[in-house]
Amino acid sequence: AVFHTRTEEDREFPHAEKKTIADHLRKFEALLTLSPQRMRMIVHAIEETLDKGLQKDGQVVPMIPTFVFGWPTGEEVGEYLALDLGGTNLRVCLVTLQGHGKFEVTQTKYRLTEEQKQDDGQALLDFCAECLDSFIRDSLGRTEKDGLLPLGFTFSYPCSQLRIDHGELIRWTKGFGAPNIEGHDVAAMFKDSLKRLNVPAELTALINDTTGTLIASNYVDPHTKIAVIFGTGCNAAYMETAENIPKMSSVGLPDGQGMAINCEWGAFDSFEHQHLPRTKYDIIIDESSNKPGEQSFEKMIAGLYLGEVFRLIVTDLIDSGDLFLGQNTYKLEKAYAFDTAFLSLMESDTTDELLTVIGVFTHFFGVETTLEERQFFKKLAVLIGTRAARLSACGIAAIVSKKGYLEKGCAVGADGSLYNKYPNFANRVHTALVDIFGEKGKRIVTHHAEDGSGVGSAIIAAMTKARKDKGFF
Ligand code: BGC
Ligand code: MG
Repeated sequence: AVFHTRTEEDREFPHAEKKTIADHLRKFEALLTLSPQRMRMIVHAIEETLDKGLQKDGQVVPMIPTFVFGWPTGEEVGEYLALDLGGTNLRVCLVTLQGHGKFEVTQTKYRLTEEQKQDDGQALLDFCAECLDSFIRDSLGRTEKDGLLPLGFTFSYPCSQLRIDHGELIRWTKGFGAPNIEGHDVAAMFKDSLKRLNVPAELTALINDTTGTLIASNYVDPHTKIAVIFGTGCNAAYMETAENIPKMSSVGLPDGQGMAINCEWGAFDSFEHQHLPRTKYDIIIDESSNKPGEQSFEKMIAGLYLGEVFRLIVTDLIDSGDLFLGQNTYKLEKAYAFDTAFLSLMESDTTDELLTVIGVFTHFFGVETTLEERQFFKKLAVLIGTRAARLSACGIAAIVSKKGYLEKGCAVGADGSLYNKYPNFANRVHTALVDIFGEKGKRIVTHHAEDGSGVGSAIIAAMTKARKDKGFF
């Protein structure tokens, strides 16, 4: 691996010397803190990149037209299946839309193994189809005699779409690496699985989790204009109008026609690495990932990576002889051993002795900590979590500024483990928005979104069906 980029720490500490924990803390504070000015620069760069993505295909940030045409009415009704292949779980739901922004959901979750994420692409989709099949037959008690239920498939990876039931996988993200699927139409492959395995369901729409979240949140609260996912991965969607999507001009949509855009902003600053304040830890994560150079923004924000940033810093201090001298630290040496959930736990620890932090280190890693070290770890977690939240705010701010939402304000539907479980994540995003925009930043409010991958995908399937019934594509 070649570490060619000049990193932030070179700038901060040109002459490395032996340091105390307090020195280290100051160093990491400088390294991981984003000033309002720096954030504004990033916002600007993201906004430019989003614009470029709308111009033509093949840009760093894909800005994918999703063929979800405009907002739901809130009156969509009916029974729909939703299949959700996220970063960690596979979920199958039956969603009953009742109109007036109301719905009911029945669901089953399946855990995905590491092997399955690297298994052959068609085999992975076959597994999804089998889970769907057993849900329909065993949980719903339905067979092919009852007809085919319409299905929205939430496939949360960047797919370029020509229709709503089409999606060519641009690249895997979030550590997936299944061969023979990148560059292929996932919808067609999945239809093949459904047919071969005789599953009584019909694929109506292939959607992204952000698009689903956008539509589901707007279904219950029309004030919602943007959706973001802060989970294993990180991404956003918003509604654009046809005349602002130059790369769609050949389709001949009328001006003013809404189209949800799946930004895939996780790809921001990939390959060239010109804008983000990457540290050497971010670079190690990138270079040792299965997709070096890709998803630069996501790798500094998403739940899959934050624990690893922490672990790399800790092992760096072990290597320099500043931590855990004489203790056996092999459990900490394993890549991705430090789950992001541990950062949440440490941040939530309000005891004087930091008892949870003791627990994390003794129980999971077999090392003893001093109080000073534990205070350092907790602060480090705060720094890493805050950096992620502030970078996320930069992405939201870029869309807000692009769409001119600051004057009237708007709601942002947010979902994902980081948003839902990481202490203070939302507050930190809000503080950062004020740092970026001043007082007006308070008009941009994130809230926990409706279940986009379940409910959202059902609403989109319903919207698609309604369009088709009217003879539109
Ligand atoms: C994927 C996006 C997805 C996001 C959140 C990213 O890795 O590229 O499609 O929306 O994760 O799940
Ligand atoms: Mg998900």
